[in-house]
Formats: sequence, C-alpha cells, structure tokens
Amino acid sequence: MLISIVVPCFNEEEIIGRFHAHLTGELESVAAEYAAECAVEFELVYVDDGSEDRTLPFLEKAAAADPRTHYVSFSRNFGKEAAMLAGLQYAGGDAVVVMDADLQHPPELIRRMLRLHREGYDQVVARRTRTGERVTRALAARAYYRLVNRFVDVELADGVGDFRLLSRRAVDAVLELTEYNRFSKGLFAWVGFRTTTFDYENARRETGRSSWTFRRLLDYGLDGLISFNDKPLRAALHLGLLLVSAAGAYAAWIVGAALVNGVETPGYVTLLVSVTALAGVQMVMLGLVGEYVGRIYYEVKRRPHFLVKAASTPVPHQRPRGELVRT
Ligand code: UDP
Ligand code: MG
Repeated sequence: MLISIVVPCFNEEEIIGRFHAHLTGELESVAAEYAAECAVEFELVYVDDGSEDRTLPFLEKAAAADPRTHYVSFSRNFGKEAAMLAGLQYAGGDAVVVMDADLQHPPELIRRMLRLHREGYDQVVARRTRTGERVTRALAARAYYRLVNRFVDVELADGVGDFRLLSRRAVDAVLELTEYNRFSKGLFAWVGFRTTTFDYENARRETGRSSWTFRRLLDYGLDGLISFNDKPLRAALHLGLLLVSAAGAYAAWIVGAALVNGVETPGYVTLLVSVTALAGVQMVMLGLVGEYVGRIYYEVKRRPHFLVKAASTPVPHQRPRGELVRT
C-alpha cells in the first residue's frame, strides 16, 4: 500500500526543513507499526507554488537525498488550490493525504487517518477546533458557515479544511472535476463517498506568516457561496419579488390614505431613502450576476490551472510501471 502526502508550499523556508524531518520520522514509525499487518510505503509530493525564497532549493536537495520525496515547482504563484490540484495529479498513492507545510496540520494525525481509512472510509477529515483563535474570528466563521449551508447543497463544516486523507477513488473523483474556479473544501464535500471526521486541537502557526489577509478571506468566503450553485441568483430573484410586492403594498396604502385624508405633501425623505436603497440592491444583484459571468469567462478560456517549471517526477500515468512504488 502506497500513501502519498501532498504538501503545497509557498515561501515556507523557515519551517519546511523542520516539517520535512518531522513528517518523514512520523511516516517511518507508521510504516514500522504496519510492518506486520501489510507493507505500507509512502511518498512525499511537495508542490512549490512559485516561492521566492529558499523553499525550492530545499525541496531539490530533499528529493535528491531521498527517492521517496518528489517535488513539483510552478512557474509562479498560482494559489493553494492549484497547488493541491497538482499534488493530487502527481500523487500515485492508494491513499493521499493533503496537508499544510507550516506544522499546523500535525503529522501525528496521519496514523489515525490511516486507521480509519483501513476501516473502509474514503475520506478521513481532520477538523480543527477554534481554541486559541480570536473570538471575533471564531464567531464570524460560525455565522458564515450557518449562512453558507443554507445556500450550498453540499454540507460545509466549520473548522474543516484541506487536511484530509482521500482514497484512490476519491482522488480520481476530485480530479474528474476540472473546473477552473476551484473551491476544494466544496469539491471534496461534493464527491462524497464514505466520510468520517475527527477533531484536533488547533495549532498556532509557529513561524512565517499566514498568507490570509482579511480581504483574501472575504473573497474566499464569497467563492464558497458562489462557486457551488446558482442558489444566490434564486435568492436575488426572491428578494426582487419581495421588494416589488412591498412597493405595491406601500403604493396601495398611499393611495388609500390620499382617498381618505386628501393629498398631503409627500415626504421626500421616504422617496430619497427608497430610491437609494433600491439602487443599492440593484448594484448588489448586478454584482452577483457579474460574479457568475466572470466565472463563466474564466471557465471558457480553458487555461491550465498551473504551469510547471520543474518537477522531480512525471505524473503517475506517465511513469513507467513499477516505478510507481519507489523506495
Ligand atoms: N500556500 C500555497 N500557495 C499560496 C498560499 C499558501 O501553496 O498561495 C500553502 C502554504 O505554504 C501552506 C498552506 O498553503 O502550506 C496553507 O497556507 P497558510 O498557512 O498561509 O494558510 P492558513 O493555515 O492560514 O489557512
Ligand atoms: Mg497555516
């Protein structure tokens, strides 16, 4: 049994060395534990997402030193989603674990994931608790997931990230989804199969900086809402209908009052407020439609998700047979 570990890395020079040593040690102990039961081998697939620091030289050295270590390097920064996609394409394992390079995803959990996978689960998801995080951020996340789950047909859970194990057939299913706008959390949920989740304590990033700014989080959140279905469009339609009926009722009320009390001087405040409010609503709706059109624009271009500058290994279906398991 071959396990692939997919690790997207972007400017992780400060921690990647420690991560690599830690992960390799952990995997060796897992393999030793399974030695009596079945042969477990592993490969590491690092994806360098256009790092500008010494991440790539480190990966080159690591790959030269250990035949189980592979890397793929992008021509520029294409984002974590693209890096994960590349990792899944290059991974040849019977099971694939996706994890971050910053030690926020503890390698110790791989053992547990593997156990659960051997019990027959196709997706084993590690869900982090939100301890040690700012209260405002935790609350915002909770509110966001409540909102999203009303709109999206697949269930997205709070704290569930990309740290998970996928069986071969789950990986193949994810690779079938070739869409340009990738929202992995949703894609993983969308493919389904037998899935189980367990909790782990949230670890703080030790060194380096999270690349998530507030703005990026907001965009990511919008992606989650929009890239999965057209329900927001339906909601816009409902809101429009609601506003039209409210306006109708208000008009009827004004006419009724005028008939009973005679015509009064109409308040221009009401007028001004309703005009600006409606203009705002229309801009939002137009923006929403624009978001969908923008996504269509990118989809029809059919650009590749990433460009590879260098790789230590060909993609599995191009590897000569027998080289799949390199130890
Ligand atoms: N990452 C990447 N490309 C990017 C940004 C991040 O490959 O453009 C990688 C990064 O090296 C790390 C993982 O994605 O391994 C998670 O990134 P980060 O720790 O910044 O995100 P967070 O943990 O805050 O969600
Ligand atoms: Mg992180």
